[in-house]
Formats: sequence, C-alpha cells, structure tokens
Amino acid sequence: MSTPSAPVHTTMNQFSTDGNELLVGGLPLSRLAERVGQTPFYAYDRDLLHSRVAELRAAFPESVKLHFAMKANPMPAVVGFMGRLVDGVDVASAGELKIALDAGVDPHEISFAGPGKRDSELRQAVAAGVLINVESFREVDLLAGISREFGLPARVAVRVNPDFELKGSGMKMGGGPKQFGVDAEQVPELLAKIGEYNLAFEGFHLFAGSQNLKAESICEAQQKSYDLALALSRHAPSPVSFLNLGGGFGIPYFPGEKRLDLTSIGQNLDQLSRRANIDFPGASLVIELGRYLVGEAGIYVSRVVDRKVSRGQTFLIVDGGLNHHLSASGNFGQVIRKNHPVAIGNRMNEDSTEIASVVGPLCTPLDILADRMTLAIAEPNDLVVVFQSGAYGASASPQRFLGHPEVVEILV
Ligand SMILES: *Cc1c(COP(=O)(O)O)cnc(C)c1O
Repeated sequence: MSTPSAPVHTTMNQFSTDGNELLVGGLPLSRLAERVGQTPFYAYDRDLLHSRVAELRAAFPESVKLHFAMKANPMPAVVGFMGRLVDGVDVASAGELKIALDAGVDPHEISFAGPGKRDSELRQAVAAGVLINVESFREVDLLAGISREFGLPARVAVRVNPDFELKGSGMKMGGGPKQFGVDAEQVPELLAKIGEYNLAFEGFHLFAGSQNLKAESICEAQQKSYDLALALSRHAPSPVSFLNLGGGFGIPYFPGEKRLDLTSIGQNLDQLSRRANIDFPGASLVIELGRYLVGEAGIYVSRVVDRKVSRGQTFLIVDGGLNHHLSASGNFGQVIRKNHPVAIGNRMNEDSTEIASVVGPLCTPLDILADRMTLAIAEPNDLVVVFQSGAYGASASPQRFLGHPEVVEILV
C-alpha cells in the first residue's frame, strides 16, 4: 500500500509556531483565516519583509542602493510597505508604474525596464519623471520626440545585454541573443544618439538572470557587469550617476537547496563600491531584487475540502491550486516538478504523519500542490500552507482558469 514519499525540505524556519498553529504576523493561522474571512489567501508578513531588508543592509556597504523589483509582488500594500524600506522601486509596465506612484514612491526613485515599452508607456514614464531603462534604438528615438514635445528631457539609463551569462541561474535574462536590453557591442552607437538628442543620461542597467543560489556566480556576474559598464562609460555623453548591477538572488524552494550566503556578496560589493568611488565619482551602485526580498515572507493558504484514498494513495483536495499558485504546481517554467515546502498549518507539531498528495480543485491533473509528501494527518477544514510563496504568486497565476474564486492577499 505504501507509495514512496518525496525528499524532505530544509525546515522553513522563518515562521514560528504556537502549539499546533503556525504564527503569521503574530496571529495563529486558524484565527488569521477567520480574520480574512475566506480561503484561499496569500499572507505576507511585515516583520519578515522588514528583517530581510535589514539583513541585506547589514551585509552590504552603506553606499549600495537596494531596489525592489515589484513584478515579484505587485500587491499595492506590499509595494507601499517596501517602497518605504528600500531606496527605489523597479517597474516593468505602466500598470506597475501606476501602483508604485499611487503607493507614494518618489518618482525619482522609480526605474522602468521592459523589452516592449509601448509609445503610451514611454509618454507616461517621461511625464511621471521616472528613470527609463532603454532597451532599443526605437525607444531612444521615441523618447527624443516626447522630450521635445514636453520640454522635459527623458531620464534614461541603458539596459545592456551583456556578452556573458549568469552561471547557475534558474532563468537567464542576459548573454547571447536576448530580447532584453541592447547588445553590448551596439551600446556605443546608442550612447551617441542619447547624447545627440540631449536626453538626461544617468547610467547603465545590467540584469543577467534570476533565482540563483550560488553566491560565487552572483559575484562573478557583478564584477563582469561592473567591468562592462566601465568600458562602455567611455562612450557615455555624461558621467554615470547610476549603475544597476542587477540581482538574481534566489531563495530555496526544493529539498537540498540552501539559503544564499550574503557575506561574500557583501564583500564583493564592498570592493566594487571602492572601485566605483574612483571610476564613477558620485555614482550609486544599485542591486535590484524581487524574489529575494518578498519570497520567503509569504505563504499561500488553502483549506482541505475533501480527503480521498485512491488505490492506496491519499489525496487532500483543497480549495485553490494552480489557478492561484502556478509555480507551486510546477507549471511556471519548471522542467521536472518538485514539491515546494508544504505543511498543515493548524497541525504543525503533531506526531502522527502520513504520506499524502495535496491537489487543487481544478479538473486537470496538473493541479498539484504537493506530490506524495510526509504531512500531518489532515481532515476537511484543515489549512494547507505552501511556504516560499511571497513572490510570483497571485499575479503570476492564471486566476480565471476554471472559474474558481480569485485569491485574496493580505499584508500582516
Ligand atoms: C524580473 C526582474 C527582476 C527581479 O528578479 P528576481 O529574480 O525576482 O529578483 C529584477 N530586474 C529585472 C530587470 C527583472 O526583469
């Protein structure tokens, strides 16, 4: 009768427990669920967001600026909260720009990147006074026209598609042929145009990839990005005041993965900022992070609707799944499905466990939140928690697929 269970995760120890209850924002999960008034929901913990930023501040030299890439979690309350903790917010659409501006983020501290900025988005960005990371010759030509029309020079940085990749990155976004940025070899020509058009040139943006758990590869990418920016700066129409070295910091999702070691990254940034004092006087080095800032602070909570044993395998059927949390189901760019950390949030310290699969309510076999995991024995009405869910959750999932209710998000 027994089915082999999946390998065990490192404990998700950022949340504490009180008896059998997981504590989120200081509240036992069952009570929090009553407060929300429905399941499923995402909950993001302010204290964890705060301590993550504090950890980075402690590890990095003071001169390094920390930006939040809000596509990882665009919930307006989260953007408002993070906007006050970090030095800038990176947006990737006019929709995100609106959320950031509404949340009170200073336009001077907003930067806008994205490979297909529409004419209207560029106009909105210039009118707002945010920094535009230009990614093509077309954008620069358009910005020249908009700047003339508004009598307001567009603030621009050049997003460079580097000639190297971020090693060990879950998702590569630079190096080789890419839709992002302008190939390094074309950047001198683009810089000449920016100068001719009298746009307000501020610096460079390099972003090599995402979800990297190897500090060594991140340091290497930062160094190479710095060197490339230094070489390109010889062609710049004015001094560099802003050098965005990207991010790509990952968080552990799967068994065997470990948290990133910030110490060596901090030391690397310390060396680079010393060099920058000489190479780029008065400039700021920027690290932009999405997942790393918010991912570990969030959980996804669903309720057990039914419990079923099929030919010896136990299924817990919950009220939400891949429609709210595509990545936990393994359908967000994973090749082989692996379990995210999952627990029964109102039975955290129970001794008796079983091997069970957690599946969502959708009529598709893809709707799996946990495949044969060791879990506390759960009954209908119990609360299933998916950890590491603060990034690329609600906004990155096909919520209308199969017509179930939308998920609620709360910041506690
Ligand atoms: C997606 C993205 C980020 C955030 O990536 P994370 O892996 O979530 O940190 C940062 N910068 C740019 C340009 C991006 O496209």
